[in-house]
Amino acid sequence: MSFENLNIIAPLQQALAREGYTTPTPIQMQAIPHLLQGKDLMGIAQTGTGKTAAFVLPILQRLSEEPRAPLPGTPRVLVLAPTRELAAQIGQSFATYGQFLRFRHTVIFGGVKQGPQVRDLSRGVEILVATPGRLIDLMNQGYIRLNGVEFFVLDEIDRMLDMGFINDMRKIVSALPPRHQSLFFSATMSRQTGEFAQRLLKGAVLVEATPQASTLECIEQRVFFVDQDNKYPLLQGLFKQKDLDRVLVFTRTKHRADKIAQMLSRNKINADAIHGNKSQSQRTSAMRNFKSGRLQVLVATDIAARGIDVDAISHVINYDLPGEPESYVHRIGRTGRAGAEGTAYSFCAADERNTLRSIERLTQVKIEVMDHPYHSERAKNAVGAAAEPAPKRSRTAHRGSRQENMHKSGPRKSYPVRRR
Ligand code: AMP
Repeated sequence: MSFENLNIIAPLQQALAREGYTTPTPIQMQAIPHLLQGKDLMGIAQTGTGKTAAFVLPILQRLSEEPRAPLPGTPRVLVLAPTRELAAQIGQSFATYGQFLRFRHTVIFGGVKQGPQVRDLSRGVEILVATPGRLIDLMNQGYIRLNGVEFFVLDEIDRMLDMGFINDMRKIVSALPPRHQSLFFSATMSRQTGEFAQRLLKGAVLVEATPQASTLECIEQRVFFVDQDNKYPLLQGLFKQKDLDRVLVFTRTKHRADKIAQMLSRNKINADAIHGNKSQSQRTSAMRNFKSGRLQVLVATDIAARGIDVDAISHVINYDLPGEPESYVHRIGRTGRAGAEGTAYSFCAADERNTLRSIERLTQVKIEVMDHPYHSERAKNAVGAAAEPAPKRSRTAHRGSRQENMHKSGPRKSYPVRRR
């Protein structure tokens, strides 16, 4: 299957070729034919599946079938995204795939001055990518009218609902003209997402692209059994021993993310943390530095990491395993992008043992165990209650001692790490 088989027009194919993309991803194969026919779509797909191109390509193609001069503040395409980072990435995709077409796009979001955004809008753009708050602000001020919208995309609906955007979304939807094509995407299909989508979609096609084993095939997955107290020394040791170029570290809490970033920085490793308590400008600057390579390590919580699209991440390290096994696939899919090789290391303490078992069941991969100086047989063999997270209370009590222990240095000078 090629993009030509999907009847993608030449200027888009040319852009894809320039990016080095020859084969459509499963979600692109499934979604593009329906979208070109004008159908509504509900796509269950996570970042890393190629979902952005799955809507950007057919939209650009449909626009170019009926080009017309854009009117000020009256876009033909409206894409809503929950965060500024995601909105910016989507805007970038319109620029990349549309480089041989002549459409204008702009991205608007809060936390920055509105002047330049208003200027862009008044010049006229076919494509508007926005976060809900700023969009409503500018609509209220009369800078944007949605009565010309032909294509309406909602990306990461589940996250928008989590972030409390439901009323904003309703308000935006009510300003759309009755006839438009809706393209909805969500990483998960919760009851709330389903209900929201059902009310707004007409005869929609449902496509689903759970990250497939094939996405994971080029990712080297390893697990390190380790007691909680030894996780930090293990991490530090890995930095000494392995060639870790551009590393995304996942932690369970914001506090742990900060702590690890601080400790790595103290050890002369360029690291920063990204999570919900950071300001927009801190998050943007951390992302920019990570992208440019100035930061070697970005430590993130699951929520903050959604939408991070940085190519060439060499390693994903699960300092803590995620609560949901699906998040594991989502996390490690950040490395090994577009056929590049990547490595995913997971630290598994006794109380995460059952989570690891669920991950292995979901991915149908038996993750190879690494031998290392902090190897814990207790973690490896944990079963029953010992293999589950401790009840909340005792966990918090335990956490203090974990943090203190993170300062410990390793018990051995040399750091042999090999497969068991
Ligand atoms: P997304 O799921 O939209 O975040 O896309 C994940 C990554 O895959 C992005 O870096 C895209 O540029 C890339 N990508 C999208 N489509 C393709 C394709 N057909 N072949 C290879 N890479 C792709």
